[in-house]
This record gives sequence, C-alpha cells and structure tokens, in this order.
Amino acid sequence: MMQIFLPLNFLGFVYREMKGAFAGIERMFALLRRAPAVQDKADALALTVPEGRVSFEQVSFGYSPERSLIDNLSFEVEPRQKLAIVGPSGAGKSTLFKLLFRFYDIQSGCIRIDGQDISQVSQHSLRQAIGVVPQDTVLFNTSIVENVRYGRVDATDEDVREALRLAHLDEFVARLPEGWDTQVGERGLKLSGGEKQRIAIARALLKRPPIMVFDEATSSLDSQAERAIMTAINEVARHQTTLVIAHRLSTVVDADQILVLREGQVAERGTHPQLLAAGGVYAGLWRAQQQE
Ligand code: ATP
Repeated sequence: MMQIFLPLNFLGFVYREMKGAFAGIERMFALLRRAPAVQDKADALALTVPEGRVSFEQVSFGYSPERSLIDNLSFEVEPRQKLAIVGPSGAGKSTLFKLLFRFYDIQSGCIRIDGQDISQVSQHSLRQAIGVVPQDTVLFNTSIVENVRYGRVDATDEDVREALRLAHLDEFVARLPEGWDTQVGERGLKLSGGEKQRIAIARALLKRPPIMVFDEATSSLDSQAERAIMTAINEVARHQTTLVIAHRLSTVVDADQILVLREGQVAERGTHPQLLAAGGVYAGLWRAQQQE
C-alpha cells in the first residue's frame, strides 16, 4: 500500500509545487511587462497604512524625458472615499495607477500614502497595500475557490465565502451544481466577463488591502451584470479607499470626487452634481451617454 501511496503523494507534492511556481512566474511576467525600472532605497522602510489616504502632489511624468504625459497633477483621496477617473483614451488614466504602484518613478512632485512618500518605502510593502482589479482578469484553469484564494493563500474557507458574498458572487456560485469547486476553464472562458471581474473583486477583497484600484472593463456588460459589479465596487468602497477608472458614468455618479483627465491634466474635478452644474466636458459626456 505504501509503495503506491508514496509516489502518489510525491506526485501531489510536485503538482502543488509546480502550480505554486506557475503562479509565481505569472506574477513575475506580469511585473516584467510593466518594466520594473525602479529600485528600493537601501534603507527603504515598510509602508504602514493606518488610514488609506492617497495624495498626488504636483506630479509630473513622461514615459520618455522628451515627452511629458502627466503635467503637475494634484489630487487627494480621503480614507474610504471613492475617486473616479474619467477621460478620453490616452489621457493617462492607467498611467496614474502605474505610478501609484511605482512601476515607474515620477519626474517631479510626490505621491504619498498616509503621508509616506512611496518612493521611500519598499515596493513589496507598497504593493501589499493595494488591491487591483484589472480590466482583463487572469484566471487560472482551476476551480472558482482556488482562483479566489490566490488573493491570500492562507485564507480560511470562511474568509473566501465572505469575499464571494461581498463580490456578489455567492448566489451565482450557489446555483452551480459543483458550487465553488466548479472549474472556470482555460483563462476562465466558461465564465462571462462580468463573472470574471467579480472573481477578481473577490480575490482582491480576500487580500484586504486598505486601498483598492479598479480598472473598469470597457467590454459591454448587460445591465444586470453591470449592476452586480457596481454593487460589489460600492461594497468595497465603503470599507477601503477606492480609485476607479470609470468607463460607464453609472460608476461615477456617487463618487466622492471625479477627476476628468485630458492630456495628462485635470480638466475638471468635482462631484457629479457639481460637474453637471459646471456645464463643461463632463456635462457633455453625460448628455452624450444619456442619449445613447
Ligand atoms: P485608455 O482609456 O485607452 O486605457 P488611458 O487614459 O488609460 O487610456 P494611458 O494608458 O495612461 O491612457 O496612456 C497614456 C499615454 O501614454 C498614451 O499615449 C500611451 O500610448 C502612452 N503609454 C502608455 N504606456 C506606455 C509605455 N509603457 N511606454 C510608452 N508610452 C506609453
């Protein structure tokens, strides 16, 4: 019996190791694609985030020295507030997120989290503090529960259940014959775009970071899927500082602050009613989307 058991046990071990290594490689490639040209300071401290206040102070940045993209940009997000960033394609919205993660160093100004300059803290501690829900979630070809657990590998079943509930996936999962053991298929192909994004939300929630960033999917979702994601984002935003690149104005309406970005500068800022009353770019966008 032991003769059979031991090799099988070993194979199980190899499989788990390989799967762990695969997740690591995925992460490494994801980071390499983002050109990690930045280095930790020799005496870099760990970031501590008791509150979750994010501030950009007169930040300027360009991917190349001769072409500035972000120009003297400032904003502050208070703890547990929601900031929505809107603007045309190429305005620099995703770049702001990359700067917050310190995938690049800025040319001038300062980005702070709870008062600490992010260029002075370790990149590891910075990235631990921020949960990210990208537009296109990478799902692994395994079960729903394992995909969520990638957010924090030592999470208990109870934690995973709670994350699924907050991401408004609990009812969906309950309806599946195999529940959360359901396989998602290669790259999550057996799930809709909205379900995949909610798995990413659950995964990010499990990490319990004090700051969450969302890059809202541009792909069209039906209105029910859109509502489910909205509710999930709002649930997150009640507990965590939330920054969202918004493509649908429904995400924006209840934000504490909206930045309208154009060519790397803040063209307008305010709440939805304030921006409508101002009658500028945002009000025009709003009218156009209403007519659609
Ligand atoms: P979208 O809504 O289309 O995602 P965005 O507002 O998020 O656009 P960014 O992705 O921040 O815009 O890009 C802003 C500008 O910077 C674009 O002109 C883009 O081509 C350029 N850019 C983005 N990433 C890089 C990079 N790694 N190297 C050089 N230029 C880049």
